[in-house]
Amino acid sequence: MSISAQAPAYIRAISPYIPGKPITELAREMGLAVESIVKLASNENPLGMSPKARAAVEKAVGGIERYPDQFELVAALAARLGVAPEQVVLGNGSNDVLDLAARVFLAPGRSSVFSQHAFAVYPLATMSAGGECIAAPAKHYGHDLTAMRAAIRPDTRVVWIANPNNPTGNFLPYAEVRAFIEAVPADVAVVLDEAYNEYLPPAERVDTVAWIKEFPNLIVTRTFSKIYGLAGLRVGYAVASAAVADLLNRVRQPFNVNNLAIVAARAAMDDHLFIAESFELNRRGMEQIVAGLKRLGLEHIPSHGNFVTFAVADGAATNRKLLQQGVIVRPISGYGLPNHLRVTVGRETENVRFLEALENSL
Ligand SMILES: *Cc1c(COP(=O)(O)O)cnc(C)c1O
Repeated sequence: MSISAQAPAYIRAISPYIPGKPITELAREMGLAVESIVKLASNENPLGMSPKARAAVEKAVGGIERYPDQFELVAALAARLGVAPEQVVLGNGSNDVLDLAARVFLAPGRSSVFSQHAFAVYPLATMSAGGECIAAPAKHYGHDLTAMRAAIRPDTRVVWIANPNNPTGNFLPYAEVRAFIEAVPADVAVVLDEAYNEYLPPAERVDTVAWIKEFPNLIVTRTFSKIYGLAGLRVGYAVASAAVADLLNRVRQPFNVNNLAIVAARAAMDDHLFIAESFELNRRGMEQIVAGLKRLGLEHIPSHGNFVTFAVADGAATNRKLLQQGVIVRPISGYGLPNHLRVTVGRETENVRFLEALENSL
């Protein structure tokens, strides 16, 4: 028998994650200059990284021969979030902590529940751990918490909620999320993925971390990849009850976050000016793109993130025409949305390039 056949069936059944096309790859394929390409495919921060984070990285390069120390970043996050340091678990991106949650609570014979059109990492993490995936039908492209509650089986050990969700941008009112957590059996972990939390207007944000006191089965995850602009460094975190955080730490690689990522995240946390600029650029860019989509007569799903998903007649064909013009967006047929495309909000000029290319593509 072949070596591939030795992998458990649940591993062989995984469909690989398809990332946004890298700029360099499109440049090679189309013979385009790298500088001429606009990439709005991976919800990256168009302003780049925080200048404070950059300075911290440059300074830390000198200490790369040492193994990383997570102490300071964990302490700073704990202080900021009002929890004990024992409740914070760092990840090599928040993708890593999602995977840790799956490895802690899932195994063959157990299942996890997530919504149709939810983030692709939930099925990936579930299947990697040997768990079974249960996708609850969506409502208006977003999570239907009633359907998700009904989908929970006796063998379910994890429920995944992305709020706001990627790739649809839907947002669930906090009262509904809270009522859902109250209704979920206490022996089921609820992973509340808040990768886009910082793009919500501050007045609309609720401190979900404070709920952990009441719900020891709640795990809140956030990331430095989105508004903080550190996607390439890979750093995110989970906040959980001390007991759950302890379990997550047992399966975590001891040095899962590198030295540069740690110091960059620590500095980025305090770069309030950069965060405010990023927020404002996104707010204006979102208006610009939504107005452009309306002008072109295209339907979109109202988004609370730094991206917006819109409908076209043929997603693959429109995507091809955009690529020919050097514009990279994200096809989302893998999310069950073959005739939608997701575009990340860019700088004003990038958004103009996108809208012009889109008009040419229709
Ligand atoms: C981007 C994203 C993440 C975070 O990814 P990392 O880079 O691994 O931190 C997590 N959840 C959702 C829904 C996302 O869109």
